[in-house]
Amino acid sequence: MAQEAIQKSRVIVWFRDDLRLHDNPTVHAAATKVKTKQAAEVVPVYCFDPRHFGTTPYGSKKTGDYRAKFLLESVQDLKQNLKSIGSDLLIHMGRPEDALAELANVEQKTTILLQTQITSEELNVEAKVKRAVKGKAQCESVWGHTLYHPEDVPYKLDMSDLPDTFTPARHKIEQHAQVRAALPTPQQGELPLPEGLPKAMLECNPQAVEDLNAVVPKGSQQLSTQELNEHAVHRFTGGESEALARLKYYLWDTDLLASYFQTRNGMLGGDYSTKFSPWLAHGNLSARTIYHEIKKYESERKANKSTYWVIFELLWRDYFRFFTQKHGNKLFAEYGITGKKLRWSEDPQAFQRWKDGQTGLPLVDANMRELKQTGFMSNRGRQNVASYLVLDMGVDWRKGADWFETVLQDYDVCSNWGNWVAAAGLTGGRINHFNITKQSKDYDLEGEYVKTWIPELKDVSSKRIHEPWLMSQSEQQQFGVSIGQDYPAPIPSSQLVRPHGSPEGGRNPGGGRGRGRGGKRGHGRGGRQNDRHRTQPRGEYERFG
Ligand SMILES: Cc1cc2nc3c(=O)[nH]c(=O)nc-3n(C[C@H](O)[C@H](O)[C@H](O)COP(=O)(O)OP(=O)(O)OC[C@H]3O[C@@H](n4cnc5c(N)ncnc54)[C@H](O)[C@@H]3O)c2cc1C
Repeated sequence: MAQEAIQKSRVIVWFRDDLRLHDNPTVHAAATKVKTKQAAEVVPVYCFDPRHFGTTPYGSKKTGDYRAKFLLESVQDLKQNLKSIGSDLLIHMGRPEDALAELANVEQKTTILLQTQITSEELNVEAKVKRAVKGKAQCESVWGHTLYHPEDVPYKLDMSDLPDTFTPARHKIEQHAQVRAALPTPQQGELPLPEGLPKAMLECNPQAVEDLNAVVPKGSQQLSTQELNEHAVHRFTGGESEALARLKYYLWDTDLLASYFQTRNGMLGGDYSTKFSPWLAHGNLSARTIYHEIKKYESERKANKSTYWVIFELLWRDYFRFFTQKHGNKLFAEYGITGKKLRWSEDPQAFQRWKDGQTGLPLVDANMRELKQTGFMSNRGRQNVASYLVLDMGVDWRKGADWFETVLQDYDVCSNWGNWVAAAGLTGGRINHFNITKQSKDYDLEGEYVKTWIPELKDVSSKRIHEPWLMSQSEQQQFGVSIGQDYPAPIPSSQLVRPHGSPEGGRNPGGGRGRGRGGKRGHGRGGRQNDRHRTQPRGEYERFG
């Protein structure tokens, strides 16, 4: 390449859900182009796209207040980290196709580097960008989301031969694939920033959630800063600095990693699980970095079932991305992958009761209130509330997935819609219909979690806390709560709409059987836990499939 052309070549790094510098394949590709003299300058950019702040098909904010805050902090942290190596982050309050067209200069050969996306909304935006920069720049996608690189797993690149259940896929991947090494974090001067960049983007630096209202489309709900509830499991702050600090905390500072298997079904407090998910979802933390840090921990401190199990969970995350690659938009379709036609409830109140934590089922309500007031819910909670909404209340599962998309701080398109379509029993695998009352007793025996989020029930005895509708009038008086007035009675079993039919033994307001998951209880850090292994012949708990 002629010297002049090299000097002028520009790389734009278009950040989206890969907001970090460590082990970032897109950033690494940019630094490599500079090192190998294929490019002379690197322009990092992030766009607050109005399409992410509109209204969902079911009328909620596309991005809720808690996630908006987390996203803003992630962008601020990235800007700070880029500055610390002599670069900067350009921020555009508007559509990426406009910003990128402005940054792609006809005078220069321009390459736009972006993390590969596989879902339709993201690909539609990419198509618009490609049209806008036609003749000025070319786009190069780089894979970056997963622990295992799709080229390394023993399936076709389009994942058409991926099994529709997790376990066989996991076994084969673990047997045949290796996790690649993490990529180095760019150092001072490795991402040279050109002069003369648009001032508006260089100086744009939104500080508060309210500043993002500049991109909320007309007619959509405005964003506002929320006070975090005192019972929130964690005070999440976005950005890779906090993500790496959490990784250090969970492994090296506290050794929590070594007891993850025993604690992971908890619902109270910050330490029962890793809480990596919001950082993973925003790309603040790389799954590979977690993996290699765990391997280091295993060789320097200890290796046990718990240390492996976090990697196992990261494989679930990979699985849902590969599963999405295989099935495309079926992930979002009413009847999912199977196409099995289900009959949904026509009760207009049902969905609202669920969203507000007013179903009368304490475990469901506590979890739904936690979600609304903090933007987080444990995995145990997510499975129960999803099962109850779809398999007992008979509400179209997409409404639940849509609400989670709004509220979750860790919303990830593949993990969310994948888990939901599976919970709805529309992937062809086993249907996990939970007996909510039994789950409540198994995982919150004393009702500590339920009472944290449902103050109306705070004085109810542990005997009645899981089924408050069974309290006599005198018990209600004794415990200071009137069922039907202070706290709702559950929807009677006869009025539940069970789209897959009524499960055996499921004639109570709390739902189905729980699929034999009530094994002997063990004691864990997060309270009493089910020892799931005693009831799972295949030696692992199937979250899906
Ligand atoms: C209905 C439903 C919706 C969900 N929506 C999301 C979502 O939008 N975003 C999201 O990250 N997770 C989602 N999950 C998966 C899981 O509940 C969360 O990842 C987990 O609770 C986050 O807490 P943690 O980081 O402490 O997890 P840990 O238990 O510490 O697990 C470590 C990591 O493994 C991954 N992981 C664990 N379980 C799953 C799973 N079932 N599917 C995919 N990845 C998993 C996550 O990245 C998680 O951070 C959903 C689960 C259900 C049942």
